[in-house]
Amino acid sequence: MKRDIGDLALFGGRPSFLRPLHVNTPNNFDRDRLYERLDWALDNRWLSNAGPLVLEFEERVAELAGTKHCIATCNATVALHLLVRAAGLTGEVLMPSLTFSATAHSVRWLGLEPVFCDIDPETGCVDPAEVEAKITERTSAIFAVHLWGQVAAVEELTAIGERHGIPVYFDAAHAIGCTLEGKPVGGFGAAEVFSFHATKMVSAFEGGAITTDDDELAAVLRGLKNFGKGLPEGHEMGGTNGKMSEASAAMGLTSLESYERSLSHNKHNYAAYESELDSIPGVRLFTGTTPETNNQQYAVVEVDEEVTGIGRDLLMQVLRAENVMVIPPIGAPACHEIEPYRRTPVPLPHTERLTARVMALPTGSTVGREQVRRVCDIIRCAVANGPAVRAGQHRSAA
Ligand SMILES: *Cc1c(COP(=O)(O)O)cnc(C)c1O
Repeated sequence: MKRDIGDLALFGGRPSFLRPLHVNTPNNFDRDRLYERLDWALDNRWLSNAGPLVLEFEERVAELAGTKHCIATCNATVALHLLVRAAGLTGEVLMPSLTFSATAHSVRWLGLEPVFCDIDPETGCVDPAEVEAKITERTSAIFAVHLWGQVAAVEELTAIGERHGIPVYFDAAHAIGCTLEGKPVGGFGAAEVFSFHATKMVSAFEGGAITTDDDELAAVLRGLKNFGKGLPEGHEMGGTNGKMSEASAAMGLTSLESYERSLSHNKHNYAAYESELDSIPGVRLFTGTTPETNNQQYAVVEVDEEVTGIGRDLLMQVLRAENVMVIPPIGAPACHEIEPYRRTPVPLPHTERLTARVMALPTGSTVGREQVRRVCDIIRCAVANGPAVRAGQHRSAA
């Protein structure tokens, strides 16, 4: 247990962890099962182009999402591109700034303009009132985000979309398996986009998917992701290559089979963090409003510098010296705080306040109770010695 400032590795103490403990380590999966599937694909010599593994993966994801259609893609960024093209979006797309850069970049890459809206500080998700206030005649869509597995304000956003005749899409990269009033993420809005990047809850090495109940949209998306093949007569878009490979689908299917185990790990870690942090003033888990329906792939904590005496950045420095490689969570800094968007400043006070206060702690199926306890032991010691840590840091910097 660390008690004094001298116990902290930043000030010469022995690091808590011998080897680096990372945030967003890929979840565990059954390696033998993956090799079986890969062998099967290789034996059959079917490696891409709507192969049986991709079709099975699409079926599994559609089941989880409760939707009629799932279109698997090579990643979520391309899935967003396909959506922009399939829906014929132009001009401006409203979205939160508090999201991964991909949400904004996917729109900008195609020559559209992301327009950033502030968040509801309770949930971290986009504030519907902000969205409605920023609608102009150039607005063609709303891209909301289920940030850190916290389901966005689906009902209000859908109503706004209907009122103004604008489609609402959800970036569900963080939210596979999350629910709202019993309904799974995937079927909200006109379509939703999942990411199966290696670090996400379900991994396909790289991968993405669009889920929707709209037959026509699904057909166009399928055509666009495969060089425009099979598009309805007269469709002028051409197409691109957004296909998922059989190797990715093999991984995706195998990772999906571990979903419940990963979820259970996340829930245990989350509860452990909650009880450990409970006794540390000024450091609390960012839970949003409905923690029970979140897949809890991210353990995000908010640091209140006025209470702890040390800010988020210094606390991260303390932890990193202990080999706990904490980072700000996805979305911090926010899109409007990074290039190229910061060139056109827009004040988003709730977003800016939150992104400056949050960090992501290690969780997932590779992290256990004992590691959580030791991470919190470091935080407890740093906070208990807050002013001294701050003073010491100034001294060592001088
Ligand atoms: C990871 C992520 C993406 C991009 O996913 P890729 O599959 O890596 O392209 C998009 N949006 C959000 C919110 C993400 O976290």
